Amino acid sequence: MTGGSRGIGRAVCLKLADAGYHILVNYKGNEEEAMKTCDLCRERGVDAEPMRFDVAQPQDIQAALGTWVEASGKERVIEVLVNNAGIRQDALMAFMNDEQWNAVLNTSLQGMYQVTKQVLNPMLMNRYGRIINMVSLSGLKGMAGQVNYSAAKAGMIGATKALAQEVARRNVTVNAIAPGFIQSDMTADLDEKELSQLIPMKRFGKPEEVSALVGFLASPDSAYITGQVISVNGGLYT
Ligand code: NAP
Repeated sequence: MTGGSRGIGRAVCLKLADAGYHILVNYKGNEEEAMKTCDLCRERGVDAEPMRFDVAQPQDIQAALGTWVEASGKERVIEVLVNNAGIRQDALMAFMNDEQWNAVLNTSLQGMYQVTKQVLNPMLMNRYGRIINMVSLSGLKGMAGQVNYSAAKAGMIGATKALAQEVARRNVTVNAIAPGFIQSDMTADLDEKELSQLIPMKRFGKPEEVSALVGFLASPDSAYITGQVISVNGGLYT
């Protein structure tokens, strides 16, 4: 679970813990919140292990996750991967700098690629897997002020559809979830009251309303669903 320390990621960890999965809780720097997520998972009767790495740094991923995967061998195979870590660095394209472009692309798109590479082969050998990529309404619709974020999420959508076709025969499904506006630290700076008027349901969603879908996509019940992008957005345009 990448980006499991806060927001949607924490809600997903708890949902998967309720389903009985042991959880690797990745985070970038917020150790206190990651530990809290782990404690909440353990209260649900499963093991939870914090795993600090920056998904934008391939060598960090190798050192932490790669080492874990190698050491685990066939004993502990990751069954569910949720690529959730993501950041926003909004600016109009005319004012966007390379750092803003690279940071957002490297976290969402490169991060998804590098993390998935580490867990894919064992999943294929195990002939079972669930990969769930957290994308966004911005990746479907495009959002002004978010050329970097929209591109990163649209890239993840393309990768989801292509990878789904590559691995379907091995019972590994790959799907994407596209949330609209969800209450979290990422949206804390937005004018919730004003933006809610654009949403048919007239409110932001809760992280638990996204994690509910992850729970289903991670379960054996979703076996015949792959290569899909499913929106969770209160009826906002997609
Ligand atoms: P959030 O509250 O800001 O939490 C972000 C999480 O990602 C944190 O756990 C953070 O770890 C982690 N993270 C960020 N950069 C990372 C990196 N380089 N390496 C590892 N972990 C990293 O965000 P959120 O709202 O829950 O969003 C989760 C996902 O949903 C993101 O991909 C976002 O794009 C997507 N999404 C959110 C919304 C929304 O309205 N909230 C809408 C559409 C899509 P630390 O705690 O250590 O910093």
